[in-house]
Parts: sequence; structure tokens; C-alpha cells
Amino acid sequence: MAVWLTPLARTVMVEHCKVTYPNEGCGILVGKREGSEWFVANSVPVPNRAVERQRDRFEISPKDYLRVEKEARQQGWEIIGFFHSHPDVAPYPSTTDAQYAWNQLLYIIVGVFGGRKVRVRAHLFDNQRFHELPVYVLLQGTVPNADNLLNAELPILDLTDEVEPFITLRVKEQLQNLPTHQWLLVRFRYEPTLSQLPNALASAGHALLFVRWNEEGVWEVLVRAKGEDKTGKTGGDGR
Ligand SMILES: [Zn+2]
Repeated sequence: MAVWLTPLARTVMVEHCKVTYPNEGCGILVGKREGSEWFVANSVPVPNRAVERQRDRFEISPKDYLRVEKEARQQGWEIIGFFHSHPDVAPYPSTTDAQYAWNQLLYIIVGVFGGRKVRVRAHLFDNQRFHELPVYVLLQGTVPNADNLLNAELPILDLTDEVEPFITLRVKEQLQNLPTHQWLLVRFRYEPTLSQLPNALASAGHALLFVRWNEEGVWEVLVRAKGEDKTGKTGGDGR
């Protein structure tokens, strides 16, 4: 079970929560649920209608909800949950959050600290309780077995002490030495330029599957070393 955000959905949500700081920001999550996986295609900020208590409450008007629902359906999506921020408070549901939560909907909470630093957590409301789900940023395709893959013994390239411009270089260098189709988990401290790294790796024939980040500010990218090329030549490793 996991939550997958498009890079745009994550950026829009996080930026909205920073802009509304020190008040609570809120919005609607649009996408689809596939079995136990949640795909958030868009996050749509809406005004916080809790005018009297914007510092620690949020309220979404039925009018905004219906408008977003209509737009979502036109694009083949549906409303799968909500996001809101916790200014200077950890991103875990409050008792008020539980009181107003709807069953089987996803609640993403963005803790915003000092208006800049963020922590993002996702919680599914089910059976009168919240259950936390891991959150990933999805770059290419879908990865239904990501959890299994990540729990497997993967070679790890730790670049957490590396400065930003050298990350792409170091990743490419490492991939060259790996057998075809071998997975590699890369860890670093910079929010990747989400267009740059995938492009650089794709042009070298590698597949980059997704990025995830954690609250310590470490980003992880799962990459697969170059496969057979399309000219029909084999990778040469006997597969
Ligand atoms: Zn809350």
C-alpha cells in the first residue's frame, strides 16, 4: 500500500501550504485508486473557509468540492482525498481531523515549519482510524511492487555527502559498472531537478523509476541499469 504523487501534484500542494503559512492551507486530491495503490494526479488548492480559525482549522466548501469533482471527472479522475497543512505542527492527524474524516479517503498532511521546511505524510481513514501510508513521487510509469523491490537487498549508492552538480555524473558512472537490468538505489540530499536527472539517465539508456523523500531530507531514486537497446543487439550478459 502506498501513495504515488506526480511531481506536479507534490509541488503544487507543498507550495500552497508554504504560501498560506502561518495559516492552514488545504486542497483536494484528484487521481485514482488501484487496489491498494493511490495515484494522485493533481492536487487542487482551495480556499480555507474556516475564516474564524485559519491557524488551526481548515474547511472546504461544498461549492469548491463540487467544482473540483466536476473538473476531475472530465479528465477521467476522481476525488480520492484531501490535503491540509499543519503550521509548525507535525503532520499527523489531530482529533479534529479524525472527527471530520470520511471513510476510505486519503488525507495528506503537510507540516510546515517556519514557513519553509516541510514534512509530508499520508494517512488513510478506514474503519474510524487513520493508517499511515508511505508516500512516493512517481516519475515514470507505475511501480506496483515498489515496496517489495525496496525491501529487497539492493545495491545502494550513497551520495548524501555529495554536492548537487555531481549527482547525475556519479549515478551514470556507477550504472556503467552494473550488469544489465540491475537495480540501484541512489540516496542524496538535494531535491532533484525532476526533469534533469531522468533526461540524463534516459538518454544513456537507463530507466529511472521513481523518487521518494523522507523527513530527514534524504531523497532516494530507484534506477535500473541500461537494458538491451532497440537495434536488436543484446546486452551481452547472456540473458
Ligand atoms: Zn489537521
